[in-house]
Amino acid sequence: MSSAPPRGPPLSRVAVTGGTHGNELSGVCLVKHWLRDPSGLQRRTFAATPVLANPEAAERCVRYINQDLNRSFTAAVLTSEAPPDGPYEVRRAQAIDQLLGPKGSARAFDFIFDLHNTTSNMAACLIASSEENVFAMHVCGYLQKHSRVPCRVYLHGGDIFVSSVSKNGLGLEVGPQPHGVLRADITSQMRSLLAHGLDFIDLFNQGTSFPAFDIVAYKTAGSVDFPRAPGGELLGFVHPKLQDKDFLPLKPGDPIFQLFSGEEIFYEGDATVYPIFINEAAYYEKGTAFIKMEKHTFSIPALEAPGPS
Ligand SMILES: [Zn+2]
Repeated sequence: MSSAPPRGPPLSRVAVTGGTHGNELSGVCLVKHWLRDPSGLQRRTFAATPVLANPEAAERCVRYINQDLNRSFTAAVLTSEAPPDGPYEVRRAQAIDQLLGPKGSARAFDFIFDLHNTTSNMAACLIASSEENVFAMHVCGYLQKHSRVPCRVYLHGGDIFVSSVSKNGLGLEVGPQPHGVLRADITSQMRSLLAHGLDFIDLFNQGTSFPAFDIVAYKTAGSVDFPRAPGGELLGFVHPKLQDKDFLPLKPGDPIFQLFSGEEIFYEGDATVYPIFINEAAYYEKGTAFIKMEKHTFSIPALEAPGPS
């Protein structure tokens, strides 16, 4: 006899953060819309709170002002002195921690949906912390089954993102969409995913249990930088045979870069990986041409309807 499935309280405090990266316009524009008209975030058992996470970056249509907000939710940043003339994102991280946290506390929000776009051809990607996060994995399974937006699951394993401020959360990463551009198809997919995510929480709050299931998910296996000169200048580009092939298998010996000299560079790993964030515009500065992923199948236990709050 296995142990009883997880059984938590209903989720009443849910937030939707957009503009965590100020030039990812689907989240920026949807959150601004919901701030004017929050009806799309209301459900029977709760109303989600829209939050424009990085207003100054959104105003300037840049990813961030001083540092990447979505890497700023560390204990060091959240507890540091934040003078008014200090790094803007440090002040924003602390303000969001006050609003939706404090991180790790009983007062923290129950769930954050954090909205992102990528320039990579990743379609819809659900970003959860770990397969051991049973609730988030059930949200992913529900979205895959009901949203009509094909979506894959990426388990990041970190805890420095905006969504780490709340007790639980999920990133919605939808692309390809150039930063600073708003596409109807991409934004509609994001809106549909978010709506179904809210529906899931509402069903759970109303007493729905969800059975055990298996899910395919991807875990990070390291990143690969562009070929560069000692000074950092690019020596070539992502190989045309790799461009736009996010989540497709990359085998040892497959081409990954083409140098300006015409020479091809081949993948030298010893196992098949699944690249994502291929040629993501925001990652040139991070020294990342793509991130390698391993593909896994996980068995997720049943989620029992909540107990009394
Ligand atoms: Zn982003």
